[in-house]
Amino acid sequence: MIIRVGNIPVDGLDFHLTLAEDRLSERANAPWTTLAGEQGKAVPTVAGQQFSFPIGAEAHLKIYAEGTTVVLKGRINFELSTSCSRCLKDINRLYSIPIDMVYKPHRADGSRRGDVECDDVALSYYEGDSVDTSQTVEEIVMLSVPFTLTCEDVGLPECELSLSGDPDEVDSSSDGRFPFRILQQMKIH
Ligand SMILES: [Zn+2]
Repeated sequence: MIIRVGNIPVDGLDFHLTLAEDRLSERANAPWTTLAGEQGKAVPTVAGQQFSFPIGAEAHLKIYAEGTTVVLKGRINFELSTSCSRCLKDINRLYSIPIDMVYKPHRADGSRRGDVECDDVALSYYEGDSVDTSQTVEEIVMLSVPFTLTCEDVGLPECELSLSGDPDEVDSSSDGRFPFRILQQMKIH
């Protein structure tokens, strides 16, 4: 949903946002790209674990303006469904992620006004007179999708079997529970 800054009521605006499952799945399952080769060109590599979003993503948000600064707060809920990366059992995990985003105007001359360090809130910029809240929500959902998800990650007992006959070949790439730094900054209640 694109919201014009000039149209935001003084008391702010409460709204709901739903992102379609298809779009999210398409992005989450796109082949990973890596920088490789002499030119440093991004080349697609093999696809990773396949994820789906049975309920899409639902966001309950409030937006308000303080001068030219726009604040977006609320919560994003979604469910990830996949097969355990070790034993292929069907698993899913619910996510409820708080959002606390501050947008500053991105001026035509390229300079950014009010550039400040914020530890607790994410800072973004908007072009012209509008903020694309759907894009913000989509990016946060994508950043929350882990590299891999296993039975243990969703609170189930250890995988009963490994598809690989050789224990040495068991995938250990999920040892770092939160591969994305941004996840450690998010407070999941
Ligand atoms: Zn498993």
